[in-house]
Amino acid sequence: MNDMPRTPAADAAAAQAAALAACWSCRGPVDPASLFCATCKAVQPPAPLDHFTRLGLPRAFDVKVPVLEQLYFGFQRQLHPDRFAGAAPKARQISQSQAVAFNEAYETLKDPLARATYLLKISGVPIEGEGAHTIHDAGLLDEQMERREALFEATDIPAVEALAAAARADAKAATAAIAAAFARGDLAAARIETLRLKYLVKLGEEARGRRARLAQGGTA
Ligand SMILES: [Zn+2]
Repeated sequence: MNDMPRTPAADAAAAQAAALAACWSCRGPVDPASLFCATCKAVQPPAPLDHFTRLGLPRAFDVKVPVLEQLYFGFQRQLHPDRFAGAAPKARQISQSQAVAFNEAYETLKDPLARATYLLKISGVPIEGEGAHTIHDAGLLDEQMERREALFEATDIPAVEALAAAARADAKAATAAIAAAFARGDLAAARIETLRLKYLVKLGEEARGRRARLAQGGTA
């Protein structure tokens, strides 16, 4: 290994591999993904990791919520404010930013719609933002417009509840379709089904609002 030719690329790779962060407290080397310095045990600031990696999960849609919760609550225990009650203000502040990063990761990954949206975004096919705001699938657009019309035309609570129940069942089917599409690596299909789920979740919210208004006004 000693006579391995040294090239600029090899040097750059070696430098990157050795790019361990320096602990803010003891200046010792720390793995950027570690919560604590191995030398002085000081809590380290959040590394720029994706939500899956931060929680120790593979980058995949198929997330078992009990596993996610076990991992998340494990990290939150290590970051509990009581553990930092006597710590330096800087350590307390860093532990809080770590807790915020883990909260954001957990909130995103526990919800199927947020998880699918995020996974599409980090896979380079966002459903929101620049260039992603149009529904490219005409069938999906028609389907959503029909549902919204039906909801606006529903004048009694049972009719609204029936539409809400249908939206819930279809949301469940869309979630299964998203899982299947991600599992076979079909990001285009995953994107369409995620858009469908997004509209169904929104429709469910609108149905709840309409139900509440009908309930207030008595039998419409
Ligand atoms: Zn240290």
